[in-house]
Amino acid sequence: MIARALYYKPLLSIVAAMALQGCASWSDNPAPDVLCTTNILGDTAASIMVGGLRASALMGPGVDPHLYTPTQRDILTLARARVIVFNGLHLEGQMARVLAALARTRPVLAATDAIDRAELLRVPDSEAYDPHVWFDVRLWARIVPWLAHRLGEHFPTQRDELLEAAIRYQAELLALDRWVQEQIERIPEPRRVLVTAHDAFRYFGRRYGIEVVGLQGISTSSEAALQDLHRLVELIVRRRIPAIFVETSVPRRAIEALQAACRARGHDVRIGGALYSDALGPPGSGADTYIGMVRTNVQTIVRALTAEPTADRVAGASSRVTRTKEPQP
Ligand SMILES: [Zn+2]
Repeated sequence: MIARALYYKPLLSIVAAMALQGCASWSDNPAPDVLCTTNILGDTAASIMVGGLRASALMGPGVDPHLYTPTQRDILTLARARVIVFNGLHLEGQMARVLAALARTRPVLAATDAIDRAELLRVPDSEAYDPHVWFDVRLWARIVPWLAHRLGEHFPTQRDELLEAAIRYQAELLALDRWVQEQIERIPEPRRVLVTAHDAFRYFGRRYGIEVVGLQGISTSSEAALQDLHRLVELIVRRRIPAIFVETSVPRRAIEALQAACRARGHDVRIGGALYSDALGPPGSGADTYIGMVRTNVQTIVRALTAEPTADRVAGASSRVTRTKEPQP
């Protein structure tokens, strides 16, 4: 704790200095109007940007937001942003002090403030809320009009356009929500079990009726316990779950250990693919937008947990998921 405080002290001084200087001289690049922490938020904000406003994200593809610590350069970028948007609910656990310091000089918005606390899931055995709200698309869609209203307060010239863009994008997300429901219903009911590396998918499970088992706890910073491993092996072998999943922002060794343990018990469970959990995919991956990420994950899950070959197998190979032959949301 002391070490962390010492580490942040110079960074916080930079924030203060940048605020005093008006941040003009640091770079020739235009300052971001809306700077988000995760790229999931960045794409959500970018989807409603109008009238020359720009949204960008601090964290790139494959970055784990639980462990993300801002560099000095990140702090300089943050200090130039007109509005900062973060997820909240302790997702950006290492950024709390920096965000609090920045909030003295500009709006710093927690996107999950848009959601009624009664609709949030708690972290098991804890008072804290689960931050992975984006996997319930209907819940994530609530952030869109909220964000448009809040940004409209700070960019009054673009206010009406922001609200109109939010209505359009929210409708797209609600259509996506229905599409996810239809897709998950294609998995035979006993097989609707999603085994992943960390507990990112509990909102997904609750919304779309699939049992979710995370090998790790809610944060990626703790190692999977041996006891959890035994419990999971039992479940996978007993229910003959065909596939388990790795995640793009979590090391895959824990899931590979689970696969080996199942094979030792005579059940050949496959790795059904990599799911995008806490970060979008790289450009061209098809998961480089929020909608693309949700669609890519759902196609990976449905393909692995349904035994019979379907049109999805061909469609899933396409790099742009929006060009598949499946029903479009
Ligand atoms: Zn996570």
